Amino acid sequence: MSLADENPHWSFETLAVRAGQERSQFNEHSEALYLTSSFVFDNAAQAAARFSGAEPGNVYARFTNPTVSTMQERLAALEGAEACVATATGMAAILSTVMALMQAGQHIVASRSIFGATQQLFGNILPRFGVDTSFVDGGTVEAFRAALRPNTKLVFVETPSNPLTEVFDIAALAEVAHAGGALLVVDNCFCTPALQRPLGLGADLVIHSATKYLDGQGRVLGGAVCGARVLTEEVFKFLRTAGPTLSPFNAWVILKGLETLSIRMKAQSANALELAQWLEAQPQVARVYYPGLASHPQHALALRQQASGGAILSFDVKGGRDAAWRVVDNCRLLSITANLGDTKTTITHPASTTHGRITAEARAASGIGEGLLRIAVGLESQADLRADLTRGLG
Ligand SMILES: *Cc1c(COP(=O)(O)O)cnc(C)c1O
Repeated sequence: MSLADENPHWSFETLAVRAGQERSQFNEHSEALYLTSSFVFDNAAQAAARFSGAEPGNVYARFTNPTVSTMQERLAALEGAEACVATATGMAAILSTVMALMQAGQHIVASRSIFGATQQLFGNILPRFGVDTSFVDGGTVEAFRAALRPNTKLVFVETPSNPLTEVFDIAALAEVAHAGGALLVVDNCFCTPALQRPLGLGADLVIHSATKYLDGQGRVLGGAVCGARVLTEEVFKFLRTAGPTLSPFNAWVILKGLETLSIRMKAQSANALELAQWLEAQPQVARVYYPGLASHPQHALALRQQASGGAILSFDVKGGRDAAWRVVDNCRLLSITANLGDTKTTITHPASTTHGRITAEARAASGIGEGLLRIAVGLESQADLRADLTRGLG
């Protein structure tokens, strides 16, 4: 019985610092880190009962570890999920979900605007195992409905999308998926449960790259799948056999990250909104993409399903690649990296990095121009962020 089970009325902020914790015999205040790969049994009968599952408890850390279990319970509480399974990385969460729930001959409908490695997994690796994916361009619910087939098992989206911050209507897509006998899976990496809870809007599973905002300080890799226990139990069965398990150390780091998730997401979103408004007023900037701006085409939808615009924005610099690279190369504070979800602000030129491997035509078709820059806004001051960007915008 964890503290959160005893206190079901706790709010999000309280759950973020308290949920899942069970104190040991030492009555530690902070969550214990159990760096142990296996667990010992009192006698042969207990070993047998643990292995058969007749008695609950830890056996081997590829299956379960108390620190990992605490992190899973805390994240499940925050997502409003019945259960959560932690994985070694975000990609391990996506792969484990597919391996657990799908079989050869089945089909995925995915938004084209998803993380590059997810595109590679769905487009180039899964077809070798008889699982095909239809990628949907544009965010209309009709386009998703049209892509469904009788054998579609998963509908997969990220919202807001990377890097153009397109917003997908989770409730409407859940209806479409369910009408077609499929499950809706939402990669909630950009918003985190602090800003958006897809399960409450009808999604069946939420995927996380805990590497991003859940840790929030760029220290460890991790992932998670949250949802109804009947589904996460299948993911767990795959994981305990195949092994893409989260390390207890990483789970502990992420657990401490979750404690500040709410306050970080609020502060970083507010910082992003201010920066987006400032960028929109700069003459060298052609367009700003940020769901929290009134100029965003899906601003109303974003406000309906998100608590705020989030901490990621993109903008088109006039003058194409040369002008965009000038902004990047003049940054002394912003980190030039493709990573996101850190307290340190990062800047990326998608056309030559994260989206550099797709053809120029495909990039143009998806609106990722040569002048586009993405910023994942951290906790530095507005004044310092603006000064850094002003140098290159010149
Ligand atoms: C980073 C990321 C992933 C993959 O996560 P890893 O932890 O790097 O494996 C998946 N989805 C989104 C949206 C991401 O940003």
